[in-house]
Amino acid sequence: MKSSDIIIVGGGLSGLTLAYLLAQKNIESIVLEASPRLGGRIQTVTGALDTPLELGATWFSDMHPNLLSLVKELGLTTYPQFSKGISLFQTKSFEPPQKFFVPEAEAPSYRLAGGTQTLPDTLAKKLAAPSIRFNTRVTAIRDAEDSVLVETATGEEIRAGKVVLCLPPQLAAANITFSPALPEPVLEILPTVQTWMAGAVKFTLEYGEPFWRKEGYSGMLYSHAGLIAEMYDHTNYEEDKFGFTGFLSGGAASYSQEVRKEFVLRQLGELLGEKALAPTAYFDKVWTDEFILAGTQVIQRPHQNNGHPFLQQSYMNGKLFFAGTETATAFAGYMEGAVLSAKSIAERL
Ligand SMILES: Cc1cc2nc3c(=O)[nH]c(=O)nc-3n(C[C@H](O)[C@H](O)[C@H](O)COP(=O)(O)OP(=O)(O)OC[C@H]3O[C@@H](n4cnc5c(N)ncnc54)[C@H](O)[C@@H]3O)c2cc1C
Repeated sequence: MKSSDIIIVGGGLSGLTLAYLLAQKNIESIVLEASPRLGGRIQTVTGALDTPLELGATWFSDMHPNLLSLVKELGLTTYPQFSKGISLFQTKSFEPPQKFFVPEAEAPSYRLAGGTQTLPDTLAKKLAAPSIRFNTRVTAIRDAEDSVLVETATGEEIRAGKVVLCLPPQLAAANITFSPALPEPVLEILPTVQTWMAGAVKFTLEYGEPFWRKEGYSGMLYSHAGLIAEMYDHTNYEEDKFGFTGFLSGGAASYSQEVRKEFVLRQLGELLGEKALAPTAYFDKVWTDEFILAGTQVIQRPHQNNGHPFLQQSYMNGKLFFAGTETATAFAGYMEGAVLSAKSIAERL
């Protein structure tokens, strides 16, 4: 059996930020990550031309000071989302789209140069190499009086002084057995905490040239008529790689990826012309895998029970904590919330 001061369950932005903040305080931690990759709801892929393309978190703003200061501290570069030119709003499939312009004075959304994935990747580089373990799904947590025993899907047990759950609370409730059981009111609340963006379908396209910019378009599209519901220019920081990213409408998950691609290209071909039909890469992701969802989410309101007071308390006599963006008391669901939750736990540990 191995042991550590602190076990962090989940290698998303909150877990990695927490490990980074603890390392600064000389507190040893191990991050146990169920999937084979880092970043959780942050996932940047690259196209045939090496363009960083976002399947997960992409934008942030001046309203996100904790995220911005972390990004700065790590030496990463931000740049504004491109929005100059004609944007399109499609209300009905049988009518031409309405054209609009985003006012220049509008506070910009930012993106990260190199892709959002540079954030978890840079945090991980700051940690000692053995401190992150992939393909390690936590299945049980047992109170062992002066320590906690964390069990993984392979039956391995790791002892720690404290455990921090840096994953959606709903997933913790569904997949982790707590002994002794968490208090009944807490067990009732956990499945009702909405996991932000679970079920979303994000798509991204790469092109050899920004043909839309050359024709005066911003690349921004909102539609009530086609499979693409929202789309934005996805040119890189250096402005030498090009593409789009955005969200597909709710029903998109029921089609195969091949059919989704066909519908996306048809919609763009009609709106932006033939050049749109020849991307160098198409990716999309339906965010319903086991690393974000356990079964179907039954939620009435966006951000329901995010930042709930039960998520601020510790359990197992001060040895078990909840973190992760859904626990944040402000900006829950967003990257800012993930960083905020890590900061607040780091202060308490
Ligand atoms: C499509 C999409 C678009 C988004 N767009 C934006 C945006 O533009 N701006 C923004 O601010 N935010 C956005 N978000 C939200 C943002 O990605 C999240 O707020 C943030 O990344 C959450 O970080 P986290 O660490 O709290 O959780 P996660 O990223 O969910 O990390 C949890 C980790 O825990 C792991 N895990 C799960 N179960 C276990 C287990 N049993 N054992 C071990 N590990 C486990 C998971 O694999 C995962 O890596 C978006 C999210 C999605 C999905």
